[in-house]
Amino acid sequence: MPTYVFRCPACGDFEAFATMAAVGPSTPCPACGADAPRGVTAPGLNVGGPTHAMTAAHERSAGAPAVVTAPPPAPGRRRSADPRQARLPRP
Ligand SMILES: [Zn+2]
Repeated sequence: MPTYVFRCPACGDFEAFATMAAVGPSTPCPACGADAPRGVTAPGLNVGGPTHAMTAAHERSAGAPAVVTAPPPAPGRRRSADPRQARLPRP
């Protein structure tokens, strides 16, 4: 649920939680009860920190690591993803 900032003309800014469908252009101030219009604020961006997807992927790999069916190919012997390239003549 997003947090919205409202600006009471007498008391100043205060924050309130509301769904995007339920938030209105103003709300009563919890201190004095005056009608406080909604303020304009910057969106809460998560810059520099791990995103939810990265955090979820890390937690998933720690608790249930990916299951492999074969060892990784030996270094220096790269196999192509396309099996038709295996039939091509070698230099
Ligand atoms: Zn107030």
